[in-house]
Amino acid sequence: MSTLEIRDLHVAVGDKEILRGVNLTVSAGETHAIMGPNGSGKSTLAYAIAGHPKYTITSGAVLLDGEDMLAMSVDERARAGLFLAMQYPVEVPGVSVSNFLRSAVTAVRGEAPKLREFAKDLKNGMDALSIDPAFAQRNTNEGFSGGEKKRHEILQLELLKPKIAVLDETDSGLDVDALRVVSEGINRFRDTGDTGVLLITHYTRILRYVKPDFVHVFAGGRIVEEGGPELADKLEDEGYESYVKASA
Ligand code: ADP
Ligand code: MG
Ligand code: MG
Repeated sequence: MSTLEIRDLHVAVGDKEILRGVNLTVSAGETHAIMGPNGSGKSTLAYAIAGHPKYTITSGAVLLDGEDMLAMSVDERARAGLFLAMQYPVEVPGVSVSNFLRSAVTAVRGEAPKLREFAKDLKNGMDALSIDPAFAQRNTNEGFSGGEKKRHEILQLELLKPKIAVLDETDSGLDVDALRVVSEGINRFRDTGDTGVLLITHYTRILRYVKPDFVHVFAGGRIVEEGGPELADKLEDEGYESYVKASA
């Protein structure tokens, strides 16, 4: 069973400290929600774990099954079993979804999947997410609607089968139908029990579909409160204002 451990993580962009001591442990089979207001540092946490060069780790540790993630390249992190779905995925002009996904699977496994096997997995994944078959031939993320981007992320999850999945604002920009399809995808994946999910979100609505085991409230670059799913209900009623004031 896999565990991602974030220990007293401090992260800066330029000379501005954004994360101020984050402690969090996510194990396979668990779903954790990080919830917090805009600007509280949620995406910074995702980028820092991903190894984005703009984000400087000033102290702390990130371990996956005891291995130092911060010493690894972005590719090595993915091979180690970490998956990150970004709030703003990049466009990859000239590379079809199908080729992009096959390259991603190849990179993570260290060898190319057999074409026929990959085609079958891709078709099954797309069917499960109600994605039109023509989607596989489009350029990756180019002109994708919000819903298409998020379905594409979940498709990546299904094909890459990571140990730990970090999903940043997977619910943003989704209408109710897309939100349901995407949530079902996350649940299907999560229910295998092989993966830990870290769901980063501003809104509580996705948590009606994807039930978290743990909820962490983020404000001012750190976790300021933790609880079970009931904490999401409290946030829905009361908002973040009291946390923002307390962290200022
Ligand atoms: P959230 O995802 O919770 O909305 P972010 O992590 O995006 O928060 O941002 C937290 C703070 O860090 C904000 O004040 C934001 O302006 C700053 N920040 C994040 N990324 C960058 C960046 N690449 N360059 C400059 N400032 C950044
Ligand atoms: Mg500290
Ligand atoms: Mg964000």
